[in-house]
Amino acid sequence: MFESPVIDPGKCDGCGLCVTVCHLDGLALVAGTVAIIATTECDWCADCEVVCPTGAITCPFEIVVLEC
Ligand code: SF4
Ligand code: SF4
Repeated sequence: MFESPVIDPGKCDGCGLCVTVCHLDGLALVAGTVAIIATTECDWCADCEVVCPTGAITCPFEIVVLEC
């Protein structure tokens, strides 16, 4: 199953940073306020989550490796 970043429209201020940073052009702004996934080619790099200033976009599929 394809998984994509999750966007909370209530937190998105339409700054467009995530659209700019996505190297696969996987995001787009609709009506200037909400970023959506426009492709199924997301490689889960999580750059959009990192750049978002409001925490509106998250990548729940991101794998975090903890060193023990
Ligand atoms: S995780 Fe990476 S490839 Fe996927 S939408 Fe975000 S910036 Fe684009
Ligand atoms: S970076 Fe965050 S606030 Fe800016 S358009 Fe993307 S989801 Fe919205």
